[in-house]
Amino acid sequence: MKGKKIYEVQINRDFCKICGICYWICPTKTIVEGEFSKPKVEDNKRCIGCRMCENSCPDFAINIVEIGEVNEDEQ
Ligand code: SF4
Ligand code: SF4
Repeated sequence: MKGKKIYEVQINRDFCKICGICYWICPTKTIVEGEFSKPKVEDNKRCIGCRMCENSCPDFAINIVEIGEVNEDEQ
């Protein structure tokens, strides 16, 4: 049995300066460009927890939170 972690992408809109780095850098397109170039979480399920967005955000506006684990055999 192999567990797969589930993540939630949290964006603090008060900190975000809409620079676009997070949706430019996200390898899985979990975060995409939304309305008015704002970052939009398209699908939390795509997130692999690489934290590239979190580490690259110049305004510390992103938190990647591990919210659980699923058994891949059950998917
Ligand atoms: S990298 Fe940070 S500041 Fe830039 S758009 Fe994404 S959340 Fe906003
Ligand atoms: S942790 Fe990685 S996969 Fe998840 S939203 Fe950030 S850049 Fe994308």
